[in-house]
Amino acid sequence: MFDHVVVHYAEIGTKSGNRSMFEKALARNLREMIAPFAAVRVRRETGRLTCSLADVAEADRAAVVAAAARQPGVAHASPAVRTAPTIEAMCTAVVALASTRSGSFKIAARRSEKTLPFDSRAMNVELGAAVQAATGRPVDVHTPDDMYVVEADSHRAYVRDARIAGPGGLPVGVSGKVISLLSGGIDSPVASYLAMLRGCRVVAVHFWNRSYSGEGVREKVLAIGRALARFQPSLRLELVPFEDIQQEIVAAAPAELRMLLYRRAMLRVAGALRSRHKAAGLVLGDSVGQVASQTLPNLAAVYEGAAPPILTPLIAMNKMDVVRIAERIGTYESSILPGADCCSLLVARHPSTRATAAALAEVEAQCDLEPLVQAALAEREIHVIAPA
Ligand code: ATP
Ligand code: MG
Repeated sequence: MFDHVVVHYAEIGTKSGNRSMFEKALARNLREMIAPFAAVRVRRETGRLTCSLADVAEADRAAVVAAAARQPGVAHASPAVRTAPTIEAMCTAVVALASTRSGSFKIAARRSEKTLPFDSRAMNVELGAAVQAATGRPVDVHTPDDMYVVEADSHRAYVRDARIAGPGGLPVGVSGKVISLLSGGIDSPVASYLAMLRGCRVVAVHFWNRSYSGEGVREKVLAIGRALARFQPSLRLELVPFEDIQQEIVAAAPAELRMLLYRRAMLRVAGALRSRHKAAGLVLGDSVGQVASQTLPNLAAVYEGAAPPILTPLIAMNKMDVVRIAERIGTYESSILPGADCCSLLVARHPSTRATAAALAEVEAQCDLEPLVQAALAEREIHVIAPA
């Protein structure tokens, strides 16, 4: 039915200086996302991107439009038919689209070049009449069930079907790279997603205690990674063994400080990965007061020593709202699978809610963490998840 997808972008249209760079990033992301279906060319046309789906199997085209629509930076995407800019050709295309549904409709025509031998009013009238005659559907210009946007210039016309809303934000990559600490929980996948929406390319890092968490955790975290890879073409996910670091901390630390020391050790490893990947920041799923480890004093004590910026997109969000996003982006079902996070190993039932950086540093001084950090880095397991 349709042979193109027309993608309108969100904020990038407003940033004139960077516009071309942003358009190129979004075009590249779209191309990579569609690549598993077919190699497509993405064209940058004024104020929008278009790609031909001619090489995509008919049965896959709806999935391709959906994949395009969910990319960071996209305001909305529409399946479309490209035709010659003649009334006859546009009528044929819009009738074909309008015949697949019922209810009222509206034509919203735009003519972008005055050299065309008809104006937008004539397009509205003629195309509307053609659809009415062919389908019997009534016109409703105020609250139509379907709106068909038709845009014509002297070279071509696009007849668009109903648009699919995108997430807005910025295309992945334009803000640089971040290291996102990805647990198997509900929060950090959402934090990673929100960072992507601000144009960050996420490198996900998960810490696991292979003897405590078990092999199931790998599958769980990979499933979360696959869900996130629907929004960022190619997601690098590194699994860092944490058992030796944990053992060292457990031996030196009182139970009520262990969780926070684990988190500081994670930030230390993440800081090293940040340099290796030339990343510009860290992302965490913390939210003020959500759990004992996330009181303001504890966050301060954990973050101390880690280089800014530390991005915490969920910092002021309610859990319910986080859960809603997790469900929408498809990470929730994997996050609630069983699988113990290594942070729960041998921690107190009532952990400290008012730790200080000094108290944590004092315990760390009794540990020999640096060689263990280096060993964990050397033994990490790397997965690159391509778009499915
Ligand atoms: P989440 O649902 O993301 O696990 P949480 O509310 O359970 O978050 P914590 O378990 O205290 O909170 O973790 C806080 C943050 O620390 C997480 O959001 C994540 O960014 C990071 N983190 C915790 N555990 C791990 C881990 N095993 N690997 C990587 N990052 C982790
Ligand atoms: Mg957790």
